[in-house]
Amino acid sequence: MINTNEEQRHFFQLYLKFHEDMMKVQVKNMQYLVAAISFEKLHRIDFGKIIKNGDYVINPHQILVEENDLEPMFERILPIMKKYYQDQKELNRFEEFNDKRKISLKQLMKNVLHKDQSVWNMHKGQYPISVNLLRKIGEYITAPYLELCSEYFSDKIVALEKDLPYCPICGRHPIMAYINDKQDIRLYWCQLCNTEWKFTNTRCPFCLNEDQSKIVHIFPSDNSFNYITACDVCKTYFKVYDGQFDNSKPQLMVENLRTYKLDMLAMSYAYHKPGFKAI
Ligand SMILES: [Zn+2]
Ligand SMILES: [Zn+2]
Repeated sequence: MINTNEEQRHFFQLYLKFHEDMMKVQVKNMQYLVAAISFEKLHRIDFGKIIKNGDYVINPHQILVEENDLEPMFERILPIMKKYYQDQKELNRFEEFNDKRKISLKQLMKNVLHKDQSVWNMHKGQYPISVNLLRKIGEYITAPYLELCSEYFSDKIVALEKDLPYCPICGRHPIMAYINDKQDIRLYWCQLCNTEWKFTNTRCPFCLNEDQSKIVHIFPSDNSFNYITACDVCKTYFKVYDGQFDNSKPQLMVENLRTYKLDMLAMSYAYHKPGFKAI
């Protein structure tokens, strides 16, 4: 529980520093992957057909990374986690199990990409490590791969004609949007793979509620360009960057971190982020 402003400020600084450090490492992991894997196989994916079927592109069968490729990526992530993760003993246990090859990083990656996120339950009690930590590490090693796939399919994502309430690359729900009514641009953003894709409607992307009387917008008091859009049917929210007063579009990855206080505001109204469930 965070009590004072001072504690809040300290927590926020740590939060930013952690993500800043992690971003730097993930850029290196992306560079590593570009050299380590062949994207040829992605060329054979029928993007249009997958989207038409209501699916997303990178599923557990579309992993071009081998277990051996994931190890150096994890080695880069580990020091950052050691610096910031609260339960160091648990992290040490993960490292130990991983060193003995008792945990498959590729399996964690498959879980992240699985449509049914209850797959994580199979690890409950399997190791003296929480599913939460397994999932976190799974997401950290998967994110650079997904981001590269997103870049690979960027032309197709831009040309999307269907209004998708989920990320075309990884199937997650958006947690942020960029809306610029002046230029008629509406984009959702996926935190896991940094994908942006356009949308036009005003329905809730989580439960697809279209009743506008159940959609709420909460504006913070600091006159920033950001606000919250929440749904009173499913109690889920996403953050919006209102681009109409700003000539340059910000990076939503950075904007998401910067607007951490909006998340706290949304939670104080009993709204929550979308769950981990892929579509
Ligand atoms: Zn995604
Ligand atoms: Zn909803």
